[in-house]
Amino acid sequence: MTRDAATAVIKAILSEKDFLNDLDAKIGDGDHGLNMVRGATAASDALNELNGDENAKNVLQAVGNAVIMNVGGSAGSLYGAGLLAAAEILDENAVLNAKTLENVFSAAVNEIQRRGQAKLGDKTLLDVLIPIRDTFKAENCVGKSFETLLTEARDAARDGLELTKSLIAKKGRAAAFGKDSIGFEDPGAASALIIFRALCGFWKDSRRF
Ligand code: ADP
Ligand code: MG
Repeated sequence: MTRDAATAVIKAILSEKDFLNDLDAKIGDGDHGLNMVRGATAASDALNELNGDENAKNVLQAVGNAVIMNVGGSAGSLYGAGLLAAAEILDENAVLNAKTLENVFSAAVNEIQRRGQAKLGDKTLLDVLIPIRDTFKAENCVGKSFETLLTEARDAARDGLELTKSLIAKKGRAAAFGKDSIGFEDPGAASALIIFRALCGFWKDSRRF
């Protein structure tokens, strides 16, 4: 991810702060927007300090560290750990294609699951991240352009968020709401969709990682 891609994500998060807080107020403690903005602001500062060599690995590492060090809340530490795991598997010359995105999202998903022990359907950010990752698996890519795959992944992410409305939360603060969590979108799943939408917009325009 280049600094410009990260900047597109940061901008999207800043503009959705109230929306994310409101979602979290329904089935949590109302701070998800604030936590994400803290992360985005810290990421922006960290990117300003990145000199010279900017590649996806460096940018993900800088953003991951900034998020871990500056964001409280469960989503902050999980997103941060996921970002660092993704940076870990990239090499400096990584190019933007379906295989790279499968690897990046797999690394992030695996680390988030290792730490948080949530699975698909538990009403978390994984209900958006796993469908994105699955779209880029080799068996789904045959005969499709990268552009088509981005659109499919974005649609899968949107459907994943929509599905969280019908689910009972099994992890995090929302789990305490039990059946009362039904009817509301998961805030972390919503932020994951916001992040991925911003990346798709950037990638479609620039064709750069
Ligand atoms: P907190 O819950 O500590 O207030 P946030 O409000 O920032 O933190 O984040 C809440 C989001 O974190 C949830 O909507 C959910 O998507 C995600 N989350 C919480 N626990 C887990 C978990 N164990 N695994 C994956 N995601 C989780
Ligand atoms: Mg919260």
